[in-house]
Parts: sequence; structure tokens; C-alpha cells
Amino acid sequence: MDTIPLVHASLGERELAAVAEVFASGWPAGQGPKGKQLETLLAQRYGAGDAVAVSNAGAALHLAMLSLGVKPGDEVIVADYTFPAPAHAVRYVGATPVCADVRADTGTVDPKAVEALVGPRTVGMIVVDTLGIPADYAELQAIADRHGLFIVEDAACAVGATYQGREAGSLAEVAVLSFHGRKGATSGEGGALITADPAIGKDARMRASFGIGSIFDMSQVVGLPVAEFTEVGYNFKLSDIAAAILQVQLGRIPELLERRNAVAARYAEHFADEELLAVPFVPEDRTHAWQSYIVTLDAGVDRAGVATDLRAQGIGCGHGAWATHVQPVFRTDQTCPVSLDLFQRNLAIPMHAELTMDQVDQVAAVLRTAVRAHSKSGRRAA
Ligand SMILES: *Cc1c(COP(=O)(O)O)cnc(C)c1O
Repeated sequence: MDTIPLVHASLGERELAAVAEVFASGWPAGQGPKGKQLETLLAQRYGAGDAVAVSNAGAALHLAMLSLGVKPGDEVIVADYTFPAPAHAVRYVGATPVCADVRADTGTVDPKAVEALVGPRTVGMIVVDTLGIPADYAELQAIADRHGLFIVEDAACAVGATYQGREAGSLAEVAVLSFHGRKGATSGEGGALITADPAIGKDARMRASFGIGSIFDMSQVVGLPVAEFTEVGYNFKLSDIAAAILQVQLGRIPELLERRNAVAARYAEHFADEELLAVPFVPEDRTHAWQSYIVTLDAGVDRAGVATDLRAQGIGCGHGAWATHVQPVFRTDQTCPVSLDLFQRNLAIPMHAELTMDQVDQVAAVLRTAVRAHSKSGRRAA
């Protein structure tokens, strides 16, 4: 059992009270009153044309591919360094994911790599706000406009982050959010599709309910409406239990983010002069949501050894994101050397809103000792 866990969801009495209300209402399933309220709140928060509450971000990405009309034979460029949900989503609709390498300093997709991969079959790109930091949307949108491509923003980790003053989740025509237990706002499992285009929202909402729309709505109509199934749909609905929890969580984003920011600032202070690791870089025009706190270890440090030491002292850690292109299911002859390097050298250390500054100091001290103990060479972090 970790004494300082890598992650810890901030769920408490207010969320419990919201769940109790749903129990009393008698409608715990999806697309009911709580789900509709959540969708209204999300549409307002993101200044969106529509917001669809769904079961998770993977489902939201799947719906995005369907609603944007992606089909077999199409290519979709995906950011390589990420939880590889984007490449999965492209495959769900029989299309081909093409992995684009990332910036070494932010881990977000490199616009130059994207531009170089645009070909006759490219229909769009899934851009990731990597571990909470928004990508380069000005440059990416220019590429999309030049070639007539869509952009889907995978803001799964980025609730609360900003780019040039705008909220992550509103940086492309379609965006997805995750409310998984490891993300900044959570209902255990959950997600949303946010879109500027009401037609995409309507289409996604229908597909998420087996193609027939809200059963709760039908129950409110006088008479006996019998829905017809005209398309193969899915059940990607978010339960009203989860929607009620999320209404509380959305209101807490500023508070939770402030605490994560304080943790990040303290780590940065601790490691400012540490040559064996680099702390995350945040460009001036954007802010981080700190879904994870990732340090990049010097190439001469044995990461597994460091992780073993941390865990032995009760400190949770992980490798961070994945290089998509080397995963067996997605492997091609493509290379993304920067992403692969980050995949091999990055280490996630405890980051959540329940950490105390004493715990942060303890993690920093243990990590500093561990990287020194496991440094094989005198080479510096990049
Ligand atoms: C977590 C994550 C997802 C998946 O979210 P779920 O809600 O668990 O499906 C998708 N994309 C990225 C970038 C993620 O980090």
C-alpha cells in the first residue's frame, strides 16, 4: 500500500449528497434530468454549440469519428505520445491511425510532424492535450485549414487548462473530456463530447443511445410514442448518478486546480537545480491542468531502479504516457523518435489535490536520492 499515492480522487460529502438526490428521484439511468443539466452546464462552460455526456472519453472519441464521417480507407493523424485512446478510436471505424511525433519540451504533437504526414487520404487529426497541457492549436488549425482537415481535441487530461486564454475543451470543432478517476474532475468513469457544431452533437447523442434518443424524454410524452431503430447505435450514455457527481465536481475545478498548481510549483522549486531530471515545461501562452506530474530523467538514470526505490518507501509512481507507434496493435514501419525517448525516460510522481506540502517535500527528497543512486553516467537531462 502506497503511503503517498500517485493519484487520489477528490470525492467527498457534497458528491455523496448529489448521489442521494438521484436515488430519491428514481431515475439513475442516463439522459435523464441530471444528465441534461450536466450537458447544459458543459455547453455553457465551453461556450459550445452542444455537449454530450457519455460513459467515457474512449466512447466520445468513437462518436467523434462516427459523427465526422471517418470511414475505412481514411487516414487520421494522431499524437503519438499519449494514452493511446486516439489510435484505438480511429481503428473502431476501420480507418488508419498515422502517428505524429511530438515536441521534446511539452510532449504535445509537433505541428511540423503533422504537416509532413498529410497525404491524399488524410481526413483529420486527433490532437492531445498531453497529460494536461494544450497543444499548438494556432499552428495546427492553420494546417487543418490549408488541407481541409478536421481537428478533434483530446482534452481527456486537460479540464481546467487554457491556451491563449481559451479553455482546453473548446480549442477545436470537436473535443472530448474524460471524467475517469485519474483525471482532474471525476465521476469514477465518465466523459463528454463538446462541439461547436450542434448537428454533430445531435448525431453523437443519438448514436450514444442505440440511435433512439432519451428514454426519459419518451416517458414524459403524452400518448405512446414508439421509437424506430433506423441505424446501428451504441450504449455510451453516462448514468444520471455520474452526472450528479460531475455537477459538483465541475464547480470544484478552480479549487482543485489551485491545489494541483501549488504542488507543481513546489516540485519545480525542489528540482530547479537538479541536473539528473527535467521538470515539465509550460509555454507562456498556456496553462497546465496537471493531470499528471512527469519528470524526464537523464538518459543515464536507471528508471526502473528509481521506481523500485520510490515504491519501497511508499511513494507511488508510473511511466506516464505511451509511445503509440511501438504498441504491438498499432506498430508499422513508422518512427517517432522523440515520443519513444519520452516513453523510455519519463516518470510520473504523485500529483493530486489531496497532497500536503510535507508529502511533496518527502517525494522530492526521496526522488533526488534515488536518481543519484541510479545514475550510471554524468550526462545531463535534455
Ligand atoms: C485517459 C485518457 C483517455 C481515455 O479516457 P477514458 O474516459 O478512460 O476513456 C483518452 N485520451 C487521453 C489522452 C487520456 O489520457
